[in-house]
Amino acid sequence: MSEQPSYFSNLKCRECGRLYPKEAIHICEFDFGPLEAAYDYELIARNISREIISSRPQTMWRYRELLPIDGLPTVGAQVGFTPLVRADRLAAKLGVEELHIKNDTVNYPTLSFKDRVVSVALSRAKELGFQIVACASTGNLANSVAANAAAAGLASYVLIPADLERSKVVGSLVYGTQVIGIHGAYDQVNRLCSEIAGKYGWGFVNVNLRPYYAEGSKSMGFEIAEQLGWKLPRHTVIPMASGSLLTKIHKAYKEFIGVGILDETPYSVHGAQATGCSPIAAAQKKATDIVKPVPNPQTIVKSLAIGTPADGYYALRSMQETGGSAEDCTDDEVVEGIRLLAEYAGIFAETAGGVTVSCAKKLIDSGKIPRDESIVLCITGHGLKTQEAIHGKCGEPRLINPSLREFEALIAQDPAVAGRLKV
Ligand SMILES: *Cc1c(COP(=O)(O)O)cnc(C)c1O
Ligand SMILES: [Zn+2]
Repeated sequence: MSEQPSYFSNLKCRECGRLYPKEAIHICEFDFGPLEAAYDYELIARNISREIISSRPQTMWRYRELLPIDGLPTVGAQVGFTPLVRADRLAAKLGVEELHIKNDTVNYPTLSFKDRVVSVALSRAKELGFQIVACASTGNLANSVAANAAAAGLASYVLIPADLERSKVVGSLVYGTQVIGIHGAYDQVNRLCSEIAGKYGWGFVNVNLRPYYAEGSKSMGFEIAEQLGWKLPRHTVIPMASGSLLTKIHKAYKEFIGVGILDETPYSVHGAQATGCSPIAAAQKKATDIVKPVPNPQTIVKSLAIGTPADGYYALRSMQETGGSAEDCTDDEVVEGIRLLAEYAGIFAETAGGVTVSCAKKLIDSGKIPRDESIVLCITGHGLKTQEAIHGKCGEPRLINPSLREFEALIAQDPAVAGRLKV
């Protein structure tokens, strides 16, 4: 395959619009605004179409003109294109007409949407010549950096709060990465990573490579639109940690409209957080654009526990621009959300998925999402990684001896069987 022409033109400050070269930098020198990828949209509009996209392999890289690397992907070329599942039983339970689940619990290779961002960040890291890659993580990012770096032959360091779920820690260690547990909250981990990135010049996917990393999230939005038959859902409910995924799904929808892939139809992006760490949702509810940091997050939803969200302000702007709202839910409601999704859609999500389902339910019940409009819930990580959250809360197996009589005595009381049992 030949190299594609460069559709990805520059990095650009989100505040002042100054252009920067496509290097491992992430902050504007003039106003400290975050840098993001900029593209030649006219060139893209002339060169892509629904037909061209549809003819490509079913991965996130079928949208490669709108992703910030120069060549073809060298890391995570198989990532993405997870199922969009129509969930009629869950829709009936929630009292809505049309509900889909974007199921990133089965993203390749580490079962969360973070494989999307890492695929872009590490492909770009290789283009920029980094030998060592690293990240600050609440768990899923660490898993994905570790796995994708191992596959690509890059050395990796992942820095995490020391108290993460066991499965997320093991899910990094197994790849032979250097796992550094920090006694502290995510914000402190992140601050340390900024110092290390400055001093050692490693490729930190969510620090100096953040403009590349963040763009990977757009692929979730592109896929939703394509899988719905090239149209936008009226409502998209998105879990928020730093707030990046929400802003990038919004950007993806805007870009698809801008380059003529989609007709412009109204849509709203809504944000979901756990009450114990809900700085963005709290600001949205108060109708302020000042995100007040949460110094000491207290929630079982560790993957979303970022007290000082880097993209909080932009997430608020995305919700405001699209008429979206935010909600938050308690840890008990998180467990309820996980169970609803499992029992009514057959999908086992991690705690962040429970947040999305429970917050969507609140947005529906309060009328912020009308019952007759189409809804997509972004489910971002697999439940096997956060089993402790529901341990003992879904019942226990009933134990018997290997005897047909004991089995029949047991099931005789089950509603699905009672009265129909042949004895
Ligand atoms: C990282 C993460 C998110 C959202 O992260 P942002 O920082 O807001 O982009 C959502 N769900 C899961 C499971 C995650 O790991
Ligand atoms: Zn600037």
